[in-house]
Amino acid sequence: MTPDDRLAALHARIAAAARIARRDPADITLVAVSKTHPIDAIRPLLAAGQRDFGENRVQEAAAKWPALREEYPDARLHLVGQLQSNKAAEAVTLADAIHSIDRPSLVAAVARAIDATGRQPQCFVQVNIGDEPQKGGCAVAGLPALLTEAQTAGLTVAGLMCVPPAAIEPAPYFALLAKIARDAGLTGLSMGMSDDVEQAVSLGATHVRVGSALFGARA
Ligand SMILES: *Cc1c(COP(=O)(O)O)cnc(C)c1O
Repeated sequence: MTPDDRLAALHARIAAAARIARRDPADITLVAVSKTHPIDAIRPLLAAGQRDFGENRVQEAAAKWPALREEYPDARLHLVGQLQSNKAAEAVTLADAIHSIDRPSLVAAVARAIDATGRQPQCFVQVNIGDEPQKGGCAVAGLPALLTEAQTAGLTVAGLMCVPPAAIEPAPYFALLAKIARDAGLTGLSMGMSDDVEQAVSLGATHVRVGSALFGARA
């Protein structure tokens, strides 16, 4: 399949799931996760009209995106990976959205960077929805306090993000994230990857983060 075909197939999957859920596909942002892929692999998707892209490492994003943005000034960059506080300033400078706000020290670092740069990326608070020790994300129990802290510090909190446990049915975790977001009065839901876009859309995802289904397997 060409990149155009892959993009069209993804749009068809999102549209089909949205139709069943009686949702407007326009309310779902496809974030093309281009981590590990060189700019030559990204350009065809930009040429096909895709504008939202995700990277998981600040350094890699900084190496790839300034050049691509000169060609496509309306491209939007989402940072979806765990973020070290000492990279917050660069992250805020580069990104239009940060999906991995997950602890007070990072809230503080991002708030300082917002003050220093005047930039205001959309922020998603990442929730460790399966309570997995090895995974990033705030514990469910700690979320209300972290949300208050983020909002008080001046972050624009667009919603919640999760990566459910691997290799088991993700739908219960997506449903839980949606419920927690609703209870917190948040509308944004960053959930769903290549293998579970349909479940995520049916349970309310506003942002799906898709890598391998668009770019092929990563090395
Ligand atoms: C890599 C990555 C994705 C995309 O995963 P695929 O399975 O390749 O679609 C989505 N979200 C995060 C946080 C990632 O790191």
